[in-house]
Amino acid sequence: MERILEVNDLHVTFTTYGGTVQAVRGVSFHLDKGETLAIVGESGCGKSVTSNAIMRLIPDPPGKITKGSVIFKGQDLAAYSEKKMRSIRGVDISMIFQDPMTALNPTLTIGTQLMEGLKEHKKISGAQAKAKAVEMMNLVGIPNPEERLKQYPHQFSGGMRQRIVIAIALICDPDLLIADEPTTALDVTIQAQILELFATIQERTGVSIILITHDLGVVAKIADRIVVMYAGKIIESGSKREIFYESKHPYTQGLLHSVPRLDAKEELKPIAGTPPDLFSPPKGCPFTARCPFAMEVCDKVYPAPEKISDTHYVDCWLQDERAKRLLAANVLQT
Ligand code: SF4
Ligand code: MG
Repeated sequence: MERILEVNDLHVTFTTYGGTVQAVRGVSFHLDKGETLAIVGESGCGKSVTSNAIMRLIPDPPGKITKGSVIFKGQDLAAYSEKKMRSIRGVDISMIFQDPMTALNPTLTIGTQLMEGLKEHKKISGAQAKAKAVEMMNLVGIPNPEERLKQYPHQFSGGMRQRIVIAIALICDPDLLIADEPTTALDVTIQAQILELFATIQERTGVSIILITHDLGVVAKIADRIVVMYAGKIIESGSKREIFYESKHPYTQGLLHSVPRLDAKEELKPIAGTPPDLFSPPKGCPFTARCPFAMEVCDKVYPAPEKISDTHYVDCWLQDERAKRLLAANVLQT
């Protein structure tokens, strides 16, 4: 397996008048070629900040990557100049966001917007660029591409616009596509079609995908592996199977219970409470205040990742025999 991306011990802070927010606190994960990794969590958990940090799109100030490395195809992106980063964004790593309307320029035709990046980054003729644009329109399932390239964004439906955004993101054949809540603004039927499209595209192009979402339903359709973030940390990671059927972290279990199901007889159970303040994050498990299983050790010491399988890791004292021993020995009493 070719390793596309490795994020190691990433820390990101934002300095505000109120103090310093520790938005991402030691995040590590990897992604192989052709894989889809989902980063899941509630809003404010640090998932978008993580992906922006990969792209080096953290505005400094107020933001700062204070620690960690991002290795893309064997190269540390932190060592790259801003100019070199610009040549990577949209070409080797592409990003798409929630709202397809703001991603498109209403005053330019779809064709112009599709070919813009190509002309800027690849040395190709106008005819070759047009052919590639038509190919991309076909890939994302937009009929009559030749005609439609001449049209403007408002002449397309929301779902079609998101398909166009995806086509633009993929036109330079990136190795990595980062999609931040790509279906959140779309209705359920269109959402399903776009997710299917991601799967098709991956099959045809081999692109690796990072899918950022708060919605485990979205993840179930296309992720290979899942990392669950909470309060700036990855608190559990595993294969889709491991997260959906064998999750060990009470927060992950809570998220799973809050997914609406078509056959649901029970009511939706969102997790009660709110995440901790990241101005002064707790030194122990950040889920302590909301966790029905919290023990005395939990808010005192952060639980080190416990290995459940080669792919499944969880940061929770419930998995650790030592927690009980420490408690019994009373060493954690303050
Ligand atoms: Fe709950 Fe403790 Fe596990 Fe945190 S470490 S999730 S508080 S049991
Ligand atoms: Mg976000």
